[in-house]
Amino acid sequence: MTNGLSPVMQQYAKAKAEHPEAIVMFRMGDFYEILGDDAALASEILQITLTRRRTAKEGDDGIPMCGVPYHAAEGYIGKLLQSGQKVALVEQVETPEEAKKARGSSAIVKREVVRLFTPGTLTDEAYLAGNTAKYLVAVGGNEANGRWEGAVSWMDMSTGDVGVRVVTAATVTSVLAALPIGEVVAGDTVDEAWLAGISRRLVSVQKGLFARSTAEAAVKRAYGIGDLAGLGLPTEAAVSAVGALIGYAELTQVGKLPTLRMPSVVTGRSRMSIDPSTRKNLELTESLGGKRADSLLGVLDRCLTGAGARLLARWVAEPLLDVTDIQRRQDAVGQLVRDARQRDALRGLLKETGDVARCVSRLLLGRGGPRDLGVLRATGGVLPAIRNALGGAEGLLKVQAEGLLGLEDLTTLLGGALAEEPLPALVRDGGFIATGFDGELDGYRVLVTDGNRLLQELESRESAGGIPLKLRYNQVWGYYLEITKQHEAKVPGHWLHRQTTTTSHRYSTAELMSLERELGSAGAKAQKREEELLAMLVDAVRKASYPLLSASESLATLDVLGSLADVASRHGWIMPLVDDSTAFAIEGGCHPVVATKVSEFVPNGCDLGGGQLWLLTGPNMAGKSTFLRQNALLCILAQMGSFVPAKSARIGVADAVFSRIGAADDLAAGQSTFMVEMVETAQILNRATAKSLVILDELGRGTATYDGLAIAWACVEDVVGRLNCRTLFATHYHELTALEAQLDHVSCWQVAVREWKGEIVFLHEVKRGAAAGSYGVQVAKLAGVPQGVVNRAAGLLDGFLKVARNKGVVRVDELSLFSAPVSAPVAVMKGEVEERLKTLDVDGLSAREALEELYKLRGMVN
Ligand code: ADP
Repeated sequence: MTNGLSPVMQQYAKAKAEHPEAIVMFRMGDFYEILGDDAALASEILQITLTRRRTAKEGDDGIPMCGVPYHAAEGYIGKLLQSGQKVALVEQVETPEEAKKARGSSAIVKREVVRLFTPGTLTDEAYLAGNTAKYLVAVGGNEANGRWEGAVSWMDMSTGDVGVRVVTAATVTSVLAALPIGEVVAGDTVDEAWLAGISRRLVSVQKGLFARSTAEAAVKRAYGIGDLAGLGLPTEAAVSAVGALIGYAELTQVGKLPTLRMPSVVTGRSRMSIDPSTRKNLELTESLGGKRADSLLGVLDRCLTGAGARLLARWVAEPLLDVTDIQRRQDAVGQLVRDARQRDALRGLLKETGDVARCVSRLLLGRGGPRDLGVLRATGGVLPAIRNALGGAEGLLKVQAEGLLGLEDLTTLLGGALAEEPLPALVRDGGFIATGFDGELDGYRVLVTDGNRLLQELESRESAGGIPLKLRYNQVWGYYLEITKQHEAKVPGHWLHRQTTTTSHRYSTAELMSLERELGSAGAKAQKREEELLAMLVDAVRKASYPLLSASESLATLDVLGSLADVASRHGWIMPLVDDSTAFAIEGGCHPVVATKVSEFVPNGCDLGGGQLWLLTGPNMAGKSTFLRQNALLCILAQMGSFVPAKSARIGVADAVFSRIGAADDLAAGQSTFMVEMVETAQILNRATAKSLVILDELGRGTATYDGLAIAWACVEDVVGRLNCRTLFATHYHELTALEAQLDHVSCWQVAVREWKGEIVFLHEVKRGAAAGSYGVQVAKLAGVPQGVVNRAAGLLDGFLKVARNKGVVRVDELSLFSAPVSAPVAVMKGEVEERLKTLDVDGLSAREALEELYKLRGMVN
């Protein structure tokens, strides 16, 4: 393939073959060149000119090319990454002189891929947002006994955090949805549907990396261990997922890795399960409009550090199940709520700390600079004060205070070694080591800065003998002493003649020559020495990387606790009582996000204890959805250890929160609204347990009135009869309110409105009983539907109701569909339906076909 290509193009072809999925940026002197198809793509994304480059030695048209100057590469790489591309950076790994020396005068310099930039493996400050993490995630597993068993592992390259969790086909999507995914490495047994919510560009399938032996070797290499037992990875799939993660990270960093923390093994029993659509609907970490600020996280985030904000996002995404763990967090928040002075002191100090974990990662990957060390020095410097501020603290706060220990030596070393702020961004800018730290460096610096003074001293010493001389400099001769011809006779013996011009003689001296040599090399020597000292400091950082990462984690935790305390005291939130019961008793609860946005939010209570189902009716816009979400959010807040917006709250730990809330059509995935609705309903009914919290909004709305009602009815029966879980069910089917009389655990509630002069006033108050109607016509009027249409609709409604009343079908509890026992014809029909279901190739159906099939089945039933 490389036949006929110039040697440079052969180098390029090799790099491209190694990284076909990436845009190759190929270093040529002061530029990075991008060639071929990559060039067309990159020139489009970067808005730069597309030209052509010749590929062979002799005449050809060449291939498309564009280029970016090397010193501005960072910005261009950032843009390519943002648009979802990967970038392979090819550098010259030797100088032209080295190439010639090693391989003869016509040798070209060696070029190699030194780094692969991918969305999930970034460490550079320029490409990362301080408050958001981007994980590299690996998911793989195997079919065993007809069941897929696997593991999801994740790594934050910028901090060295690693975690893993064992999953099944049923849990994998929920686990993935909880992670801030930058990029996914998937094994070949992974079902595409599990990755449905993730952009294809962020997924790469890597069978080889998951292979047992490859993965095991990678894990051992990364942790420097000979035996895996100590890591506590629970299954083979967990080993292979962590191994694949490490293998992929090594590929991108071309061998280097940051210091990785021991993998934290998360079990399903320790975290609340929240499926992807519930997560989205509840707007936990971003709003439906994609904004962080309008989400639960946005309201909770009063963090002062990037690491704190990133950790808070994890807490929001993964509420806990263990009551003791939850209470430990609550107690710590409570302590900081009560003691405002301690909170202010702590938060004041946190502002002075930096992103330790990211600095450490960069330094250990050889990409750090003086400023990263400066951050470590500054942060190390405030740790004693933070420990002091936490003095006397108990529990989780005390644990964090202890996590700040062990950095005294490093802080002292950096304190003595680094110059005052501001430190330069780049090593080559120099001047970041303090005067007095290293004698050798100081010597070079004296030479550089005092060079002129030394020359002047030499000049005046030499002229002391009475010769009028001038010290001069030129490119050819360097420094020299110059005298006019008439003084030639007075020249002392140690002067060495250099040059004669028409009017003058030029001399040097041994001292001048040596001074010049020293001066010339002093700058270079100073820089080299600074680099050596930097390497020594980085080595000290490496040795202290575990206490550094532990301090970083403790600071982040303190920041999160402080942020939760700040939010709680700002808004007057209270500490909920969390226990292992199935209580759910809220008094005066508010929606944590909406309440900050509307001027007078009406608080509402809720009691679902022991598996009650509240059937909630009320017109559109009354506040049903808000109430439903509010209670789910209170539960999530409570289990992440936060205070909650309520007058009082007792919440028995929920193993999962499920929601089914008016989904939009997912047409891209080929699913209609109704299909989505039914898929979500199926998941809830199949997975919820007696400890779950379920919120169902407008179930059955996506289809014709009566089959929707029928489905809603059957679901309510199943939820209270079989699952017996705490449930809020908002509906427009007023017919359902009849269930209150029939089923023990069902009670009717309404969001109150007042009718006034033919209009409705929303009171947003949840109270006992069923709403009088849907007030759809009034809401249409409010929304600005033309008066003529509103009047006509009101007339039609009257007519429809009359007809319905005459036919006696207004009350659904009187309908035969629900009250009649299964009759003979129904049994026959059931047989046919059964037959059809048995012969149906369920796995082979697309979503659309499934929907059609559903209609057919319904046709048969009708
Ligand atoms: P529904 O689901 O009944 O159609 P929503 O929950 O969407 O109603 O609420 C409609 C509007 O009413 C929301 O925009 C919200 O701002 C406001 N709202 C909801 N609940 C309250 C409340 N408790 N206090 C004040 N305003 C509320």
